[in-house]
Amino acid sequence: MGKKIKEPKTTLEWASEYAKRGWAVFPCHRVNLDGTCTCHKGAECDRPGKHTIYSLEPESFKDASIDHLKLKEWFSKDDVYNIGLRTGNNPQGSLIVIDIDEGDGKSGGKTLELLETKYGRLPFTLVQRTGSGGRHLVYWGKPGIHIKSTKNILRAEAGLPDRDAEGRKTQSHIDVRADGGYIVSVRRTHLEAPGDGC
Ligand SMILES: [Zn+2]
Repeated sequence: MGKKIKEPKTTLEWASEYAKRGWAVFPCHRVNLDGTCTCHKGAECDRPGKHTIYSLEPESFKDASIDHLKLKEWFSKDDVYNIGLRTGNNPQGSLIVIDIDEGDGKSGGKTLELLETKYGRLPFTLVQRTGSGGRHLVYWGKPGIHIKSTKNILRAEAGLPDRDAEGRKTQSHIDVRADGGYIVSVRRTHLEAPGDGC
């Protein structure tokens, strides 16, 4: 694990830190202590803490911004919203996130190990630990890199069988979030300087 970056404190400071890098942000709902979503659906919400605020602009991650005035409008009240980060090709650059799902029976870490053994280590980068035990590997390149957001990638490349013993499609538990996608920032923690892939 690499050196920790000095962590911002408030939601606005976090959002500003991202925007300074050129990463466009937008407000998302949060998860209450009991695991329910802060949206009106509460316990019925199937994507707790991972979607936009319906009653507020922006309605969609497409309206994500790096404009400080917008950030102030959205995030001045601390601890109200999560910060969404729009991935993919932006005017400032291309934010590509490899989402490694781990924990709760998910084996993204194992798949990554298989891939790195075969193809070599991934380039050094920022790593965000997600609440569920997974990792977001964050890559930032120049504008114009077009990669579609895709789930369950690199299955064959990792040498995984097509189907498991019960005939179900095998999962790599690795997704790529790029054009047409976003991630929710795990605030206050976990944005690490380049790791060793751990
Ligand atoms: Zn919700």
